[in-house]
Amino acid sequence: MSRPNTMKALAKSHPREGLWMVQAPVPEIGPDEVLIKVKKTGICGTDIHIWNWDEWAAHTVPVPMITGHEFAGEIVEIGRNVTDLEVGQRCSGEGHLIKTDSRQSRAGKFHLDPGTRGIGVNEQGAFAQYLKLPAFNVVPLPDDIPDEIGAILDPLGNAVHTALSFDLLGEDVLITGAGPIGIMAAAVAKHAGARHVVITDINPDRLTLAEHVVPAVRAVNVAQEDLQDVVRELGLKQGFDVGLEMSGSQAALDQMVEALVMGGKIALLGIPPGKSPVDWSRIVFKAITIKGVYGREMFETWYKMIAMLQNGLDVSRVITHRFGVDDFADGFAAMKSGSSGKVVLDWT
Ligand code: ZN
Repeated sequence: MSRPNTMKALAKSHPREGLWMVQAPVPEIGPDEVLIKVKKTGICGTDIHIWNWDEWAAHTVPVPMITGHEFAGEIVEIGRNVTDLEVGQRCSGEGHLIKTDSRQSRAGKFHLDPGTRGIGVNEQGAFAQYLKLPAFNVVPLPDDIPDEIGAILDPLGNAVHTALSFDLLGEDVLITGAGPIGIMAAAVAKHAGARHVVITDINPDRLTLAEHVVPAVRAVNVAQEDLQDVVRELGLKQGFDVGLEMSGSQAALDQMVEALVMGGKIALLGIPPGKSPVDWSRIVFKAITIKGVYGREMFETWYKMIAMLQNGLDVSRVITHRFGVDDFADGFAAMKSGSSGKVVLDWT
């Protein structure tokens, strides 16, 4: 390709609130890497933390840093050792960069590698015209998956990883937190054969969006409705079989434990703020299994989600806002409103 020397990138250039559109050098790739021309990117909650420059971001993210990790694009250059990818291939990719020397990686559990580094957080990210990525991390996109869905496969992967933590076929599922990942998890749970899927929140806009994206879901505003009434309304004998916690809210986790059957299972993706009190005796006496979920399984989650998308899983309505990248500030404002679904920026 005729390779430009510089590119537009959305960077944390100063250790304070905001992000800045800068000119940055186009990355040089190594022998095992590819260069991707970025087409569409998704804004993540993580990016909002970095924009806001909260305590977590200030402690984690070195400045300057090109942000962003949710992307779809096209390979424009491949390293000399890369044999299984081609220039012109449309792709998304896993933004967690792993090493191969840990016990977990050597067992094939790459998503559990303790040396994981994230693009857009620890390494230069995807909010740019070009992104350098190890070929290992590239996930080719089939023709029937459009770029804007490719740009949200990272959070869809969080939803899929969480939802498929337990067998959902014929099960009644409670999801706490109707942000984009919770809503996509509801779609996945229905697709995976769950009987009843209930999603809770206290934000009416998000619950409306949940019903819009997944018409078969029962959305419950727990500020107005008692979950136990919903359990009765649905005719559940004891409660829900599986809980997917997506909010990080202590109250939501408490409600989930109360609403679960004996021997129920919980997958936790939401991140509680600091240490929070939990009634462990309730969890012990109900014999509840709890699993923490981080990232996406490499690459089983990616395989499953692409297969489900090709087999009728539809999360497209979770994208509520689209902006050209020069209007990135509007995109971040939409995200910060707390009422949006996914916000996608167009780099083309
Ligand atoms: Zn993300």
